[in-house]
Amino acid sequence: MKVNIVSLTCCAGCVSSFLNAGDALLEILSQDFDIVYSPTFVDLKEVPQVDLAIVEGGVRTEADEKLIREVRAKSRVLVALGICATHGGVTSLGNIISVKKLLEKEYFVLETSKLPELEDLMYPICNFVDVDYYIPGCPPMPFLIVHSLKSIVSGKTPIRHQSVVCTECNRKIIAAKLDRLYGIYDKEADPNLCLVSQGFVCLGSLTREGCGAPCPRAGFTCFGCRGPTDSLLYRSRDLYSFLVKVISKRTSIPEEEVKKELYRNPFIFHTFIFSKFERFKARERII
Ligand code: SF4
Ligand code: SF4
Ligand code: SF4
Repeated sequence: MKVNIVSLTCCAGCVSSFLNAGDALLEILSQDFDIVYSPTFVDLKEVPQVDLAIVEGGVRTEADEKLIREVRAKSRVLVALGICATHGGVTSLGNIISVKKLLEKEYFVLETSKLPELEDLMYPICNFVDVDYYIPGCPPMPFLIVHSLKSIVSGKTPIRHQSVVCTECNRKIIAAKLDRLYGIYDKEADPNLCLVSQGFVCLGSLTREGCGAPCPRAGFTCFGCRGPTDSLLYRSRDLYSFLVKVISKRTSIPEEEVKKELYRNPFIFHTFIFSKFERFKARERII
């Protein structure tokens, strides 16, 4: 199987995560998995026709748009890897200000005429081309990438993860009696209790499982890098109200108070709230 690995606007962390898969990576590379194009691995300028394209990053420049259209036209199967590619991701934070302001604020010392032409916003790739599989995460865990790719390479549908991170976290959820929320550095967390039950803002209850919950298991709040679950994507789009209810239930803090606390930190949703993700296109294909 011939494979293209393509990087659009991104930090290259998703391909690095793939490289971190160790023996599992060697196993997949020793099978029918021939990487013929990748800025990371292969010095080839023309995009070849392939069976599988793996794309990290989203579309922020006109060059990204041109490249993703060409990659799609030359691939039988296209996989969006990482939440920049699947939903817009951290790079969508630039969407909160205009391109003009963005350039003035961030690039004022540079000659802007030498920068690539920008799209009006950062977009996930599904806004331009059809995507066969989405593997969200920032970055997706190496084992998740390799297991998913192994299934795709052998012609099977990869296992879908439809529940929430809380199901992979060993912490005990209780209805505590608290009077305020806390930042993760404000106090030491109990290693056994749900972080929300302790007043920390953990997004595990909104977020798609599949990562193994490494953050809450290590005592750090989940920031939602796997994106919203199917139920939040397709039944209720109001992630904010859902989170407010969860926090209120697990802390006994009234919903209005929780809203005030969350209002002070809107960027807790940064991995997907600013994205222009077209939900209807992703049905049944998010891994
Ligand atoms: S999803 Fe995260 S790790 Fe992957 S390219 Fe985007 S910012 Fe980097
Ligand atoms: S909210 Fe966070 S800490 Fe609590 S159970 Fe879910 S993932 Fe674990
Ligand atoms: S626990 Fe949350 S932030 Fe951490 S890897 Fe999983 S989805 Fe991402």
